[in-house]
Amino acid sequence: MVGLAIARRLQARDGASTVLIEKHGSVGTETSSRNSEVIHAGLYYGTDSLKTKLCLRGKEMLYDLCKTHSIPHWNTGKWIVAQDDTQMDAIQKVHNFSQTIGVPTHFITKEEAKRLEPDVRCEAGVLVSPSTGIVDSHSLMQYLEGDFEDKGGICAFKSPVTSITPFDSGRSGWEITTTSPDGESSTITADTLINSAGLFAVAINNMVLPDDRHRKAFYAKGSYFSYSASKPKPSMLVYPAPVPGHGGLGTHLTLDMGGRIRFGPDVEWTDSPTDYAPNTKSMKQAIDDIQTYLPGVDRDAIQPDYVGIRPKLGKLAATSGKDFQDFYIKREEGYEGFVNLLAIESPGLTSSLAIAEEVEELLYR
Ligand SMILES: Cc1cc2nc3c(=O)[nH]c(=O)nc-3n(C[C@H](O)[C@H](O)[C@H](O)COP(=O)(O)OP(=O)(O)OC[C@H]3O[C@@H](n4cnc5c(N)ncnc54)[C@H](O)[C@@H]3O)c2cc1C
Repeated sequence: MVGLAIARRLQARDGASTVLIEKHGSVGTETSSRNSEVIHAGLYYGTDSLKTKLCLRGKEMLYDLCKTHSIPHWNTGKWIVAQDDTQMDAIQKVHNFSQTIGVPTHFITKEEAKRLEPDVRCEAGVLVSPSTGIVDSHSLMQYLEGDFEDKGGICAFKSPVTSITPFDSGRSGWEITTTSPDGESSTITADTLINSAGLFAVAINNMVLPDDRHRKAFYAKGSYFSYSASKPKPSMLVYPAPVPGHGGLGTHLTLDMGGRIRFGPDVEWTDSPTDYAPNTKSMKQAIDDIQTYLPGVDRDAIQPDYVGIRPKLGKLAATSGKDFQDFYIKREEGYEGFVNLLAIESPGLTSSLAIAEEVEELLYR
């Protein structure tokens, strides 16, 4: 998704000739098709972070694009629910922060909450985020790919990048070699190089930069759970209060464009970027967590579903505060024309169009 958004943006420049290099046979078969498809409001990421800046701008750009090109999306709104005083403090902090960045949020009373969503438990309070929504990520990627190709961009599929050579530190361009699954190599040269390889972006970073700038990739796996019962059926996204230092946003309830409920993702650290087996070990804990805000949930109707993996640069937190993991988007010093994107976890989908704008500015401002 992010590489696609960047390629489309750069291809729109006069005289551009952009190649999107993808190791699989089509776009979006990794993290971009393994997420919650939530258009995030930008409530969690602190004042000066790239995540806040790009999520706010990206949300606006994404809603506009979806409306203009009839890409399926739904401005569902979202509730963050608190069950006790500590959680209430946490959602009060979210509200205070959202006011400082101009993102609408408001509290509703317990009685009003009961009337609107009788199945949702919120003992202490509910914070409502009206600008949160969902998008059909596959339709979005289909649109971006079509528009990129219509503008003359080229997708090179089944082309895993296996080595990268800068000429004169990138000042005279770049040589990028790909090796197909049957062992055939090909090489292209380019003036600029964008690393937007998701879970494998650290591997590309380490191909380009010297040893002392190598990094280690960390992976925070998130398992989803499907729900086959027809009740309870909230019409809102429901999130628990955020827990400081947590690698995700808590096992929440989201909806897909068909109105089907899914729960997740949880957080489980793994050593492998392809560890896509759902976490059944902590399923009981996940269901217990879900039951705190949805007491009537039918436990037997919850089944392990798919997995998405968050690219991280350490065992770092998803929300602001201590050990916060921000997006890493930099024009790397000493390497002309190279923009490096690491740790593009949530809200990467929401931010994708704004990330593309940011990359263009880094290269050409
Ligand atoms: C569990 C989970 C839930 C999330 N929920 C949300 C959400 O609700 N809202 C939101 O805004 N964001 C969400 N995100 C974040 C969002 O999904 C990601 O930020 C976004 O999809 C990242 O896109 P990407 O293009 O950077 O990565 P990817 O989709 O992983 O794309 C990277 C591409 O690079 C290719 N590649 C890798 N190495 C090579 C190589 N050597 N040669 C050639 N190609 C290569 C891969 O094949 C892949 O197609 C979530 C993420 C996770 C993990």
